[in-house]
Amino acid sequence: MLPLTSANRQISDEEAAMVSRIIPVEDFDLVIFGATGDLARRKIVPGLYRRFVAGQVPDSARIIGAARTRQDDDAFRAEMRAAIEEFIGPGQDPAQLSAFLDMLGYVAIDARGTDGWAELKARVRPGVVHAFYFSVAPALFGDIAERLAANGIADADSRIVVEKPFGRDLATARALNATLARHFDENQIYRIDHYLGKETVQNLMAVRFANILFEPLWNAQYVDHVQITVAETVGVGGRGEYYDHSGAMRDMVQNHLMQLLCLIAMEPPYHFDPDAVRDEKLKVIRALEPLAAEDIVRGQYVAGPDGPGYLEDAENPLSRTESFVALKVRIANWRWTGTPFYLRTGKRLRARTSEIVVTFKEPPHSIFDDGGTHKANQLVIKLQPNEGMHLTVMIKEPGPGGMRLVQVPLDMSFADALGAEGSDMPDAYERLIMDVIRGNQTLFMRGDEVEAAWAWTDPIIGAWEAGSKRPEPYDPGSSGPEEALRLLHRDNRRWREIRP
Ligand code: NAP
Repeated sequence: MLPLTSANRQISDEEAAMVSRIIPVEDFDLVIFGATGDLARRKIVPGLYRRFVAGQVPDSARIIGAARTRQDDDAFRAEMRAAIEEFIGPGQDPAQLSAFLDMLGYVAIDARGTDGWAELKARVRPGVVHAFYFSVAPALFGDIAERLAANGIADADSRIVVEKPFGRDLATARALNATLARHFDENQIYRIDHYLGKETVQNLMAVRFANILFEPLWNAQYVDHVQITVAETVGVGGRGEYYDHSGAMRDMVQNHLMQLLCLIAMEPPYHFDPDAVRDEKLKVIRALEPLAAEDIVRGQYVAGPDGPGYLEDAENPLSRTESFVALKVRIANWRWTGTPFYLRTGKRLRARTSEIVVTFKEPPHSIFDDGGTHKANQLVIKLQPNEGMHLTVMIKEPGPGGMRLVQVPLDMSFADALGAEGSDMPDAYERLIMDVIRGNQTLFMRGDEVEAAWAWTDPIIGAWEAGSKRPEPYDPGSSGPEEALRLLHRDNRRWREIRP
């Protein structure tokens, strides 16, 4: 891949230092409800540790775990030490690790009970930032919010962090918003969508809005179509019961894919400010056209040599829940009328990958006798497994062989130029937790955005549930059902191959 920076000039040390500069956050107390759970062990605590090692979390900060399990501070510290070693790696610096573990404490609390709340109140220090991470089932959000307020632990300056799923339809999302609103203002609520915490997603905004180059082309006149793919290789085994009540549309499209769609399609906000950005995202969701039946493909993986099919994984032989969905989405506004956005996501597909591909139109006339080798420019934004962004361009094939054209990718991710700093970017959770402490809501979903997204998906899901059509079967390790390929073929387009 051509490194854009070094092709022109090497990024200076000073610039690299500026880009990777770490600004410590102010002193804080973070209470993690659900601290004995999977998310806390795998993401939240290891993420905080990495930010501590990077010098972003001050050693005066306090991280207090809370859950029903009865244990003392030391037992919790031992559990978190094991989690850090498991999810970051063994061989951590012993002094750093023990300094971090000293910042941890634990209080046994039942979200629905009365014990533990007085102790928690005694542990939370006045005069520092207070954040409460609700890493528990959404059914407990109301209980925790109510007790935090009733016990005088949270106040008008506290922040709460809530996880997906944020409702399972418009009615439940509204109810959840109303429950939280009884105790917290909207500017205190941080609804996490970890896709928004990815480096490349923010880089996408920088590329769009800090350069003159793309924005004039960023419309239906010059963009042929956009593809958003989130593919997983794993099935639903292990969480089949949960997933069977959800499906790909609720689990992935309503939140992650729609958030990515918004960032691609939104108008430039007047400022990089939380409400300005979220206002523009909301306008995109409101401009989505209702989907016609022929623009939707639902799939369910069947058994393969490596494992059982969806129905066995979900332990529900009659399940009509989709483990794959592909959609052709249209945005009814001046900028995008005429440019389709194709979205797809699924389990047990060929490779694990999340990417956005913006395909531009072909030049109106070719002056080269290129024998059909000319290809449209594509901006490929890769979110996982390897974050990065590249733009494909046509250039002359080097050498004396005449005027032959070849497509090359221009690397726009700057990871090479930034060396180790560039490749050691914070994980999405790390970045988002630091944003909570900083009080920056730009990368979090606002309540009205979540409700608007459900308002668009509800009729689609409602029609599936009212009908009797089964999802199309697809083989594990494939790109999804044949129908999904046809969704693009009938428009003379093709999906970009699913590859890591
Ligand atoms: P989990 O492993 O089931 O953990 C649930 C946590 O809640 C445990 O610490 C449990 O501890 C605690 N808990 C349960 N009932 C409680 C009560 N009455 N009072 C106080 N604590 C209680 O779940 P998870 O995977 O960590 O997920 C947490 C939340 O994040 C869920 O909303 C989930 O949907 C969301 N989420 C998780 C992931 C992920 O990767 N894991 C990703 C996205 C979103 P005790 O049993 O000790 O009380």
